[in-house]
Amino acid sequence: MPRIELPDGSAAELPEGEPIGSVLPPAAIAARFDGRLVDLSFVPTSDGRAEPVTASEPDGLRVLRHSTAHVMAQAVCDLWPGARYAIGPAVEDGFYYDFELPDPISESDLGKIEDRMREIVSAAQPFIREELAREAALERFADQPYKREIVETLEEGEVQAGDTVTVYRNDGWSDLCLGPHVPSTGRLGAFKLLKLAGAYWRGDESRPMLQRIYGTAWSSGSDLEAYLARLEEAEKRDHRKLGRDLDLFSSPDELGPGLWIWHRRGGIFRKELEDYVRDLHLERGYDLVVTPHIARSVLWETSGHLAKYADNMYPPMKDEQGDYYVKPMNCPFHVLVYRSRTRSYRDLPMRLAELGTIYRHERIGTLHGLLRVRGGTQDDSHIICTPDQLIDEILGVFDLTLEILGTFGFTEPIIKLSTLPGQTIVDEAMAAKATEALTNALDRSGLPYQIAEGEGAFYGPKVDFDFKDAIGRPWQLTTVQCDFALPERFEMEYVGEDNQRHRPVMIHRAILGTLERFSGVLIEHYAGAFPLWLSPEHVWLLPVADRHLEHARALAAKLREAGLRAVVDESGETVGKKVRAAQLMRAPYTLVIGDREVGSGELTVRDREGNEIGGVPFDAFVEALVEEVSTRRLTQSRFGAGG
Ligand SMILES: [Zn+2]
Ligand SMILES: [Zn+2]
Repeated sequence: MPRIELPDGSAAELPEGEPIGSVLPPAAIAARFDGRLVDLSFVPTSDGRAEPVTASEPDGLRVLRHSTAHVMAQAVCDLWPGARYAIGPAVEDGFYYDFELPDPISESDLGKIEDRMREIVSAAQPFIREELAREAALERFADQPYKREIVETLEEGEVQAGDTVTVYRNDGWSDLCLGPHVPSTGRLGAFKLLKLAGAYWRGDESRPMLQRIYGTAWSSGSDLEAYLARLEEAEKRDHRKLGRDLDLFSSPDELGPGLWIWHRRGGIFRKELEDYVRDLHLERGYDLVVTPHIARSVLWETSGHLAKYADNMYPPMKDEQGDYYVKPMNCPFHVLVYRSRTRSYRDLPMRLAELGTIYRHERIGTLHGLLRVRGGTQDDSHIICTPDQLIDEILGVFDLTLEILGTFGFTEPIIKLSTLPGQTIVDEAMAAKATEALTNALDRSGLPYQIAEGEGAFYGPKVDFDFKDAIGRPWQLTTVQCDFALPERFEMEYVGEDNQRHRPVMIHRAILGTLERFSGVLIEHYAGAFPLWLSPEHVWLLPVADRHLEHARALAAKLREAGLRAVVDESGETVGKKVRAAQLMRAPYTLVIGDREVGSGELTVRDREGNEIGGVPFDAFVEALVEEVSTRRLTQSRFGAGG
């Protein structure tokens, strides 16, 4: 009789053949046996520790979501005989399942699928785990080619390799799966199907395009409601929608996927962002460099990119000098700047900064608006220094990160130190030195951080800074990498105080990441209502009638003279429509210009919240806005009656 230790310290004797679930509380939907996730129906054959897994903890939610994915696939198969199902994992906040259907379905079918799912849930069908020999599994999935392919390629590690495969069955529907699952479909319920998308089988563009149904599932109805409310808020802020509505950028078909053009309003926003970042770097002792977009293959061979990063690079262009590659990173170019002369210790630290445009051949399926692009501009810098300077330089980067991101209202970073991955170009001694430097800098900074094993870049360990946006979503923004390998590969040197040659160290860092992605994050963070300094226009002037146009134009000219961006709405629409149009463009301040304003020379100012204040003297208005822009204030100026 196995002896089962329970979390409260007590122990239970489990009769031979009894499932682990019989000693766990009813709230459990799965169990952990000696730390391993198992079904409640798991029968221990030896002594061990058992813990309940409930639907409100992360592991439990994953089990719940994946079980809901099974039920969704079962419902689809019931409704569309001949449906072929591929894979259906739990993902963050939910799940999906990929299908090949006799006829493609549309979003209007989701309700019907949900209805069928609810029937399966009310039937409380038990999930039954079966171990099948490979041959038996191939037979079970005779008319399911995707499942057969998974079984046939088990060695590739999709599912635990072995002579048998695990199948979960409820009612007559089976899926190839490692589990665990909830004991019965009756334990599910707080779910909703969200949307349809296309996805290539195994993410491979040469394989069939499948239909992916996304859903979400939670442990309670109230959690589901709260999630749907968050989703709705996120949708309102979607940068792709706002980018279109606010006329900031677009990605016309002729460009190709993942490439964007910035329109006039987006151009001003980009200029302000770039100027701020570039100027601050100059103030902090960085030097600006400029490098081309392409280079010969020899550069990428030396840097190691062709060996380790070629999958993410565009194919080469050829001419009589050989192959040229479009750059996926700026680092090798900055190395060439360093190597353009003999360097001495007096030149170090050398901080080379560039808003460098890079191109990465990301998979089409992973592209997402500005958040995942194929062409983007990084606020990239490489700091080349002596080993003694390394920690201070890393601390300087942390400091600059907090200053820059604080300007946008991003505070309280979530910091992660990622150590080297399996595939790398760095030898262990160098990796250890790099990790030690980052750890020492983090410890000295006093900032809290976590360690993520094996998640670093192929040329070195890294520190990532995530920040939460206005609706609490974390975004990974800043990356700092410490690199002993590239200096070695490029034989970078400096002459030390001792007159000997030494090898410098290199820090790679991007604080905003790509400006494209950062812009996407900012748009969602601010819901399109940028702080004044980033707003494409500061002031919208709305003449009530044609006779007020001249006064409006004269005021706009004076505002521009004061360095403010002012536009006059000359559309001839009613003033109500003009106010509405300005609101839709998230205009920070609108000035309604009518008889009263022309007569008094004073202003009627409307802010974003719709507060309207009359009798504001022109000079007071200008002074407040100039101050708001120059301090990059996040809140709007207030105007009392009479200024
Ligand atoms: Zn499963
Ligand atoms: Zn770099």
